Amino acid sequence: MSGDTPESTTGTPDLPEASGPARAKDTPAVRDTLPVRAELRGKSPYGAPQLDVPVRLNTNENPYPLPEALVERIAERVREAARGLNRYPDRDAVALRTELAKYLTRTGGHPVAPENVWAANGSNEVIQQLLQTFGGPGRSAIGFEPSYSMHALIARGTGTDWISGPREPDFTIDLAAARRAIAEHRPDVVFLTTPNNPTGNALPASTVRALYDAAQAAKPSMVVLDEAYVEFSHGDSLLPLLDGRPHLVVSRTMSKAFGAAGLRLGYLAAHPAVVDAVQLVRLPYHLSAVTQATALAALEHTGTLLGYVEQLKAERDRLVAELRATGYEVTASDANFVQFGRFEDAHDAWRRILDRGVLVRDNGVPGWLRVTAGTPEENDAFLDAVREVKKELSA
Ligand SMILES: *Cc1c(COP(=O)(O)O)cnc(C)c1O
Repeated sequence: MSGDTPESTTGTPDLPEASGPARAKDTPAVRDTLPVRAELRGKSPYGAPQLDVPVRLNTNENPYPLPEALVERIAERVREAARGLNRYPDRDAVALRTELAKYLTRTGGHPVAPENVWAANGSNEVIQQLLQTFGGPGRSAIGFEPSYSMHALIARGTGTDWISGPREPDFTIDLAAARRAIAEHRPDVVFLTTPNNPTGNALPASTVRALYDAAQAAKPSMVVLDEAYVEFSHGDSLLPLLDGRPHLVVSRTMSKAFGAAGLRLGYLAAHPAVVDAVQLVRLPYHLSAVTQATALAALEHTGTLLGYVEQLKAERDRLVAELRATGYEVTASDANFVQFGRFEDAHDAWRRILDRGVLVRDNGVPGWLRVTAGTPEENDAFLDAVREVKKELSA
């Protein structure tokens, strides 16, 4: 299904990329001689186009740079860490996991201890470690698509068979259909993304409970709840579901709500036995001392950072209302982005919006595009552009 398409395949080869080194002329010829693993041959890497345009609302980043006081604090903590860079960092990142546990306890409605938490370089690495531990050759993982394309790509990279589970035309998950898919395929890992990317809708707790039970009935499998966007949700985190569910893992990131995509810090909460199991595959000293120091500084400023989240939630709700008022269809959003349509040709609409200086995302979901909530000014520019495109397309 389309959501599993690496987003680069819907990219724009005819447009200049803002970054990327020049390719040697013989690259295609040499590529054909490389003994690349069969399941990777001919595939495209993940990659949203990074184009140099005035308004970039395509990768769900936080539009607000870190506040100056936090920048200063990062500099302080990194300076301190620099004095010890001759030594390997704390392999178990205990100080950082302690602060992440406090953050989850304070905001997630569920007590979390440091031994329940594991951190890595982005939640993508968390997901990779989970698949290396619980997936792998001869095993399979399922996701309900369209959803986050990296789940499928990391599965492939770890030799895990990928199963594309169904979603309804309105992008909700039909419980009976999902249960049937789990019973039929008996996956070792089940991905549930809530709020879902790229569609924006959240899963009810009842669906997660039921699919956890369905997965355990098939075999003792792991259920990964990807809550990358949960801070933007109208509802609460599903962290309390960890209670009594030792095969459930909640994954989180500092890339979105914390406005720190460049930091590369993701984390999970789960039973301590899961955290122990993941240690079997993590590279020693995978989290640099600089990363740990920077993340600790950011966690000192959660109050300010979550203030930006409130502004972004209001802007997200404004985008939904204005898009509907303009005559677009919108998928209800609990994230910092909005899926809108429908277009006869989404890629053509994407291009028309880009022609007006606004970059949104074509995730390859037929008929739909996705826009990230930016600053009020960026959102105004986007809304002006889509109003014009609406007129153009109905002319
Ligand atoms: C952005 C995103 C992530 C975050 O990835 P990082 O590696 O932490 O930057 C994880 N899951 C989903 C669904 C996302 O959209």
